[in-house]
Amino acid sequence: MCCSTSVRTGFAVGGLVAAVNTKRVISVLGSTGSIGVNTLDVIARHPDRFDVFALAANASVDIMLAQCLAFAPRYAVMMDEAAATLLQQRLPAESGTEVLQGESGLAAVVTAPQVDVVMAAIVGAAGLPSTLAAARAGKTLLLANKESLVMGGHLLMQAVRENGACLLPIDSEHNAIFQCMPVDEHGTPSDRGVSKVLLTASGGPFRQWSREQMVNATPDEACAHPNWSMGRKISVDSASLMNKGLEFIEACWIFDLAPERVEVVVHPQSIIHSMVQYLDGSVLAQLGNPDMRTAIAYGLGWPQRLESGVTPLDLVATARLDFESPDESRFPCLRLARESVAAGGTAMAVCNAANEVAVDAFLANGIHFTDIPVVIEHTLERVDNAEAVSLAVVENADAQARQVAMEFLADFQQNGGVVKRV
Ligand code: NAD
Ligand code: MG
Repeated sequence: MCCSTSVRTGFAVGGLVAAVNTKRVISVLGSTGSIGVNTLDVIARHPDRFDVFALAANASVDIMLAQCLAFAPRYAVMMDEAAATLLQQRLPAESGTEVLQGESGLAAVVTAPQVDVVMAAIVGAAGLPSTLAAARAGKTLLLANKESLVMGGHLLMQAVRENGACLLPIDSEHNAIFQCMPVDEHGTPSDRGVSKVLLTASGGPFRQWSREQMVNATPDEACAHPNWSMGRKISVDSASLMNKGLEFIEACWIFDLAPERVEVVVHPQSIIHSMVQYLDGSVLAQLGNPDMRTAIAYGLGWPQRLESGVTPLDLVATARLDFESPDESRFPCLRLARESVAAGGTAMAVCNAANEVAVDAFLANGIHFTDIPVVIEHTLERVDNAEAVSLAVVENADAQARQVAMEFLADFQQNGGVVKRV
């Protein structure tokens, strides 16, 4: 069972006084992406409170260069070697920013003793090693990279507990739940009167589309989210509801909840970011305009509140809030995520890896949108489950799943473009 850990999110740390009074030193991983850019936007509003120690990204040299000039980090890490060389050439000699490359560079800027806070906003499984390293180094971990929890939830939560790290969820739903949870951190959520968590979902751009319409959905249609502006991978996940599936798993881990205590509710306006229901009948909700800077500012400032640049919510203009149940027959990814939680072990890592392969293929126009769950289900059926006892085991499951999914796709392409169930 995946959700047996005792999570002491946020309130676990003894860093409360430090958080209030001193300038915090931060490394932003995935700085050139949607979450990274929003994080730097909030940081720029509070130059007296944050020092940017490092920025890290994959290959976007132009954005990284502009960020280095604006924030003067001590280090800039590029995963891509050619991008690192180019950035080095283009940075002015007097910039004071040293360019590092690859996993070792990433590890260095996560674990450096000067660093207080790590924003983990790399997309996908690639974020797991650095996220885990931040937890093991006892940092305040602002967790946007949900895939690392989905893959290695047991390892990550254990690392948080054993090393006195502070995990603050940045995913808007989990950030909302965190804000609505009881202040008393002791015991499980049920000990503290929580009966369940209501995880809201916008329903994505295809909420009202039939399955037949979804077959021919294009990548741009899938990425046209009605409420949120996000990177392309998470946008496709939102359209397939796999994002909610990953978040379902994420909620179980972060808040130490049995799966039956997490209920997905479709709420198309994305104004309520999630809710906590108590045994006395109370339901606490966190509301706001759909802008990730609220959750980011909450994480950056915790336990204080910071100005974030987000437009204040106008409830009268919003006028109505609707709710409906998710339709798992049109959106099978949600069911597959639930089944992965029930299977436990490395099944969640397999589900995540197969999804990444399928989403990449869809974004490259290699498969239909509706083929995504077919690839995932096929992969889950074929990769053996194991106990997720170490990073090596999780990475092995991830690699096996990618191989199975890629072989399935190659077979599919050879057979003229229809995913066959074999
Ligand atoms: P994005 O695609 O916009 O940006 C991804 C960032 O990761 C980029 O800076 C990219 O250079 C970097 N990156 C990619 N591969 C890398 C690698 N191998 N090593 C180092 N850096 C690498 O993605 P995003 O939308 O900002 O999402 C980032 C994470 O936050 C994802 O896990 C996503 O699920 C999560 N998240 C995003 C949002 C959102 O609103 N965008 C909301 C909740 C959670
Ligand atoms: Mg979310």
